[in-house]
Amino acid sequence: MKIYNTLNNKKEELVPIEEGKIRMYVCGPTVYNYIHIGNARPMIVFDTVRRYLEYKGYEVNYVSNFTDVDDKIIAKANEEGVTAAEIAERYTKACLEDMNNMNVMPATVHPKATEEIDGMIEMIQTLIDKGYAYEKNGTVFYRTRKFQGYGKLSGKNLDDLNAGIRIAVDDEKEDPMDFVLWKPKKEGEPSWASPWSDGRPGWHIECSVMSNKYLGSSIDIHAGGEDLVFPHHENEIAQSEAANGVPFSNYWMHNAFLNINNHKMSKSAGNFFTVKDIAEKYPLQVLRFFMLNAHYRSPLNFSDDLMNSASSSLERICNSVSNLKHIKDVATARDFSDDDKNYETTLNALSDKFDAAMDDDFNTADAIAAIFEIVKLANSYITSDSPIELVNISYDRIVKLCDILGIICKKEEEMLDEEVEALINERQNARKERNFARADEIRDELLAKGIVLEDTREGVRWKRS
Ligand code: AMP
Ligand code: ZN
Repeated sequence: MKIYNTLNNKKEELVPIEEGKIRMYVCGPTVYNYIHIGNARPMIVFDTVRRYLEYKGYEVNYVSNFTDVDDKIIAKANEEGVTAAEIAERYTKACLEDMNNMNVMPATVHPKATEEIDGMIEMIQTLIDKGYAYEKNGTVFYRTRKFQGYGKLSGKNLDDLNAGIRIAVDDEKEDPMDFVLWKPKKEGEPSWASPWSDGRPGWHIECSVMSNKYLGSSIDIHAGGEDLVFPHHENEIAQSEAANGVPFSNYWMHNAFLNINNHKMSKSAGNFFTVKDIAEKYPLQVLRFFMLNAHYRSPLNFSDDLMNSASSSLERICNSVSNLKHIKDVATARDFSDDDKNYETTLNALSDKFDAAMDDDFNTADAIAAIFEIVKLANSYITSDSPIELVNISYDRIVKLCDILGIICKKEEEMLDEEVEALINERQNARKERNFARADEIRDELLAKGIVLEDTREGVRWKRS
């Protein structure tokens, strides 16, 4: 399997540190608002990478942080007259909901910056002890020039960077390229005690510390959006490698931007849609499918036209799966004819094509094209006269390949049916536990969806009113 490694600017064979295991860290969002669909791109892309690695048999330890202390969070808290912790908690919860609705699996661990301050203080102290950091008036800076490898990820060179800096040199810094590891608090800001000042950590240090704590000093894959290459990831490398004395991450993966009218979608530019906005117009499966129709390293322009076309493409897959499901109910067992055997061989070859696309730096666009070929083949070949085993193989194959991409290929009515049945089960359990208030609440919730319940001897029946 090959991965495009930003560190060396080429596709490289994936060789994990520990056989059969992958240690993967994905930089997560700053929780000061609802996430927009640009933020959703790395979530969907790297969740798909994780799912494919798991399908290939790797045990993936997947860590993704929430930055829950930051200037933007503090500003929002002041604006609303609430604490920064309240803002962070509200938007972390909302983000986890959005992730779940996009079928993004929860990380093995979702660390939060505010819960890892001790580790950050410890790493900053190590950097000071090793001469890679220094304190001035309560602020701790990283001594960028001391780290030999600075610039190896972004290809930037410190002298060029220095020449580009036109702003007045911060007189507390020894060098304009030095960056903050710890800063003293300002009035009204959340703060923690440290050997240098009551204050808070800089942003970059959190990922170095969390990655080290949950995955070890060397990891396989570190990922995020391409805007993180410099300075965030470059600084993470400088911190982690100086503190630990070993290579930080062997592979660096970066997704390209999601754009609107060819401009990066971003909160600051105001040209964004939140995941919640999109959920009002489309099932989030469509958003996921739209994203995966492009290669993750290609910029992707968002438009209603493209979303509508993603929606009808996805529907073609779902229709095929639904037809196969009906055929499964009527088909019977018989030996494979020669044509059946040929069909199965072609089906397997197309599955291999899917794997080959994914093995080539997770080319989800080509992988989806392979699924369409299978759908086309199954639609034209499978009938109720086909042997049941062949129908099952076809059904299972399409469902499995979609599942690797995190796509649930069910029609909306089927999803709704499942939702209704889950609620009915919950109501039954509530009644068993004599929690009649909850049972009534569920009955009302279902009524609001136009579902009428009928308690019969055989159990609960339901129909749409
Ligand atoms: P932030 O909350 O801005 O730190 O962003 C969280 C993640 O979303 C980072 O990996 C960013 O690189 C990524 N990101 C932000 N905007 C976009 C965009 N328009 N397209 C793709 N990725 C983005
Ligand atoms: Zn990070």
